[in-house]
Amino acid sequence: MIELGFPIKFLQWVLTCMKTVFYSIIINGEPAEPFPAAKGLRQGDPMSPFLFAIAMEYLSRSLNGLRKEKEFKYHPRCAKHGITHLSFADDLLLFARGDMTSITQLQHCLNHFYAASSLKANHEKSSIFFGGVTQLAYWSQLFLIPSKVLKTIEAYCGSYVWSGVNTITRRSLVAWDKLCTPKSVGGPNLINLKLWNKAAAAAKNYWDLANKEDKMWIKWIHAYYIKGQQISNMPIPQQASWLVRKMIEARRSVTTIHIQQKQNNSMIRQLYLAMLGQLPKVDRECSLCQKHDENRNHIFIECEYTKNVWTKLLKWMQRQQLWATSWDQHWQRAAKNARGKSSKAGIFRMVYAEAIHEIWNERNLRIFEKQSKKAEDLARNIACICNVRATNQNRQLIQNFQF
Ligand SMILES: [Zn+2]
Repeated sequence: MIELGFPIKFLQWVLTCMKTVFYSIIINGEPAEPFPAAKGLRQGDPMSPFLFAIAMEYLSRSLNGLRKEKEFKYHPRCAKHGITHLSFADDLLLFARGDMTSITQLQHCLNHFYAASSLKANHEKSSIFFGGVTQLAYWSQLFLIPSKVLKTIEAYCGSYVWSGVNTITRRSLVAWDKLCTPKSVGGPNLINLKLWNKAAAAAKNYWDLANKEDKMWIKWIHAYYIKGQQISNMPIPQQASWLVRKMIEARRSVTTIHIQQKQNNSMIRQLYLAMLGQLPKVDRECSLCQKHDENRNHIFIECEYTKNVWTKLLKWMQRQQLWATSWDQHWQRAAKNARGKSSKAGIFRMVYAEAIHEIWNERNLRIFEKQSKKAEDLARNIACICNVRATNQNRQLIQNFQF
């Protein structure tokens, strides 16, 4: 602290605080007799972080002094910015060329620091890395949720979508990718978290790249990859890591957003869609009949296949009226049948909900798993499920229904 120029009086205050520490332990809610601390301040003391910051400042200045040493050679990717070290909280990264002289110089700094502060690097917690950091591989690991966690999240989502349950089922594991295809190609357009995660990282980093030139790693990318070129039209550096390439490729979306003053998440969405790839567009043809365009009215009411299902179910429930083919008429009749507290109305509500669910499920199975059922089999399935789920009172009535 003397070398850093702190006033003597201040030093005395600090020393008094350090040397006259007493601790007291609370036993059964009562503070016990205080006792002196043999080794001064402990880690949890409010003063510790400040003293640590002062100590690291000393080491940092000492490492910066290496720049003046002719014998010290920078790590090849740190020379342009004169980087000898980076510190984050109590982690320290040291950089040098891998020759004996430069490494020895670094060691001298650490020894000097030890002599001045009594703080020594813990070899068991230190690692040395040689070479292999030419392509910024490190950055590509930042910001990404571990793939195992993503898989679990997706498995839960898949189970919920397919089976409506909160536990992971086998089916969800295979079908998730298919659920993430956009509407334009016939998919349900759920978010592919893995890709979204990558898009978010790339978009955020591109934003930083274009707007925050004061950050050290931004300066670093500028110095080694961008080299004074315009990010908006420079060629993509092929030797760069995946993330650096994606960050630069994100420029089109980012530029558009910049002009339109939109929020960041639109940028991520655009990047996400670009990463999802150009899937061939398909006509939204009804997968149940392959004759008409697919839309809500068609799938649930107008389609020949659906009409067959409803007709069989209505007959089974002993309701003879024809199923309506216009949306309004359909709703009026359905509401009329569902109204009231009678068993018949209760059964109708259950069958109606189950039928809508099963028709939608049949549509998805045809598109994504190339499986199909005849209308009659689907109606029979719905009837079976309702039989199992019915209350005791309703079940008696259901069992009288004939298929
Ligand atoms: Zn159809």
